Amino acid sequence: MKPAVYADYAATAPLRESAREAMRPWLEREFGNPSAADTYSQLPRHAVREARETIARILGARTDEIYFTSGGTESDNWAVKGRALACHGGRPGHLIISAIEHHAVLEPCAFLERLGWKVTRLCPDREGIIRPETVGAALRPDTALVSVMAANNEIGTVQDIPALAKAAGEAGVAFHTDAVQAMGHIPLRVDPAPVCLLSASAHKFGGPKGIGFLYVRHGTALEPLHHGGGQERGMRAGTENVAGIVGMAAALSESVSEMEHEQVRLEELRERLILSLREAGLDFRINGGAWHLPGSLSLSFAGQDGRMLVYLLDRKGIAVAAGSACNSREIAVSHVLSATGVPDRYIKGTVRITLGRESSGEDVDRIASEIVGLVR
Ligand code: PLP
Repeated sequence: MKPAVYADYAATAPLRESAREAMRPWLEREFGNPSAADTYSQLPRHAVREARETIARILGARTDEIYFTSGGTESDNWAVKGRALACHGGRPGHLIISAIEHHAVLEPCAFLERLGWKVTRLCPDREGIIRPETVGAALRPDTALVSVMAANNEIGTVQDIPALAKAAGEAGVAFHTDAVQAMGHIPLRVDPAPVCLLSASAHKFGGPKGIGFLYVRHGTALEPLHHGGGQERGMRAGTENVAGIVGMAAALSESVSEMEHEQVRLEELRERLILSLREAGLDFRINGGAWHLPGSLSLSFAGQDGRMLVYLLDRKGIAVAAGSACNSREIAVSHVLSATGVPDRYIKGTVRITLGRESSGEDVDRIASEIVGLVR
């Protein structure tokens, strides 16, 4: 059952009605395999093609540059490992990532390090920003990929992706961005910036779980990780998740159409929450900086235990997160908060509040008053 107040949109978002309706025929009646040769498979094949066209149009990409995957984790793994396999004839080389990437990028890099690859982890500034000049300084002749996320899942910091991609592109190095948190929430196109690879996941913008895509710029060398049937033009084997693909395209279209309005509304809600906490005189800091995802708020309360706050809020019917949602059971201090220099007095008292489509002013007031009560 949905909690009374849901403020953990960075973990996942409720399924949009438009996505549910778009998926219904493919779940209930039309079971054809889009890669089969029979006439019955024409309808699902057409639906997958339309979804691919919709996503490509939104991104400013070519239709044949969109590859469907099982979500953000697979897309990130494919970008990092697929790129590594495609370069230097399989011999170990060098990768550049930011120190605040999601584990879906960090872990494939750690895996490659065990195989002899070298990985440079770029440090962000206090607001979580990766400066393009740090990319330029870290490049080596054997660098196969630069990967910097478009928006951070813990502190919401939004990067200057065109500038970062340009820094890599000018040296002829492929650039990947994990856009899982950004897609559908802030404007994102691949045509003005030399982005070669981009990962996205449907459940973060109101689509179903277990479906996502990887954008692969035409001409970018990339090895497939899934071998089998010839689906996705031989690049990602496995029968297509027709309902998921169609639902993802519907959800993305709707998110993009609401984006401008939602950005303003969510920022107002975020400000209202901050104001209430300030008025209560609590000792807290806001992590990240001016460039952040709308409605994303990482707060650290001095001397508090963030996990305990999350637990107690949960018991009051309020869903928020302590660190990154995907590793919220982890005891260790978050690598993102450490890398951005959150002081010791605050770091363990961190709560992540991420607002979204169904968040209201009443939700925000309730969150503020419960936090004030608990912290006091
Ligand atoms: N990348 C980022 C930035 C994320 O926030 C997440 C999930 O929280 C992922 C990747 C993984 O996406 P998925 O849940 O679709 O595997």
